[in-house]
Amino acid sequence: MIKVSKNISFIDIHSHKSFNNENEFRIQNIMSYDFDNLNIIASKYYSIGIHPWFINSKNTERELEKLKMVFAKYKNFIALGEAGIDRVKSINLDEQKYVFTQQTMIAESLNKPVIVHCVRAYMDVLEIRKTIHAKVPWIFHEFSENIQVANQLIHNSCYASIGSRILNENDKLNEVVKNIDINYIFVETDEFEGCISEIYEKIAKIRGIKVSQLQRQVLKNFKNIFK
Ligand SMILES: [Zn+2]
Repeated sequence: MIKVSKNISFIDIHSHKSFNNENEFRIQNIMSYDFDNLNIIASKYYSIGIHPWFINSKNTERELEKLKMVFAKYKNFIALGEAGIDRVKSINLDEQKYVFTQQTMIAESLNKPVIVHCVRAYMDVLEIRKTIHAKVPWIFHEFSENIQVANQLIHNSCYASIGSRILNENDKLNEVVKNIDINYIFVETDEFEGCISEIYEKIAKIRGIKVSQLQRQVLKNFKNIFK
């Protein structure tokens, strides 16, 4: 059971920042090849995975074994990722699919949610989800597609995480955030230098709700999948 203390206001589902503000609960993302240099802090929470940009076929099996070792050893690694498929980067697609599939099977066996990096590859990713009969929720980080894709993800028991892109007034994501089922969203900073509160404020404004309502909702969503 993952305890979120009472003074937490903001859940940040995916971030590359290594520090925590007092009122934030953050899942800090670790790239698997960075793990050996990591100073693990027991009071913090992490995700770890093989990012599709950094696949090196020579090391794949070793890195997969590393993931299993990390999850077996450390209770505060609560999600697998970021992992996924990126059709914009020129990395062999079959290789990407293989590495992602292997990771999702590890996540399934350990009952860990997956933080998904997905760029123009929603159909590929959902196909893999069906092929392996995945049951654990997948969180599509920095979601930036349209409402049809969002609904398709939700239909497959997946979540959309909203990042700093929502701060851009003219982005089509504004319309998506207005209409998406709020039971299936998370909020993240990823590489964003600003504060997570800015993103919460913007989403709350779009939805016409108070920030405190959004905070309660995201906490509820979090508790639904991190048990
Ligand atoms: Zn990231």
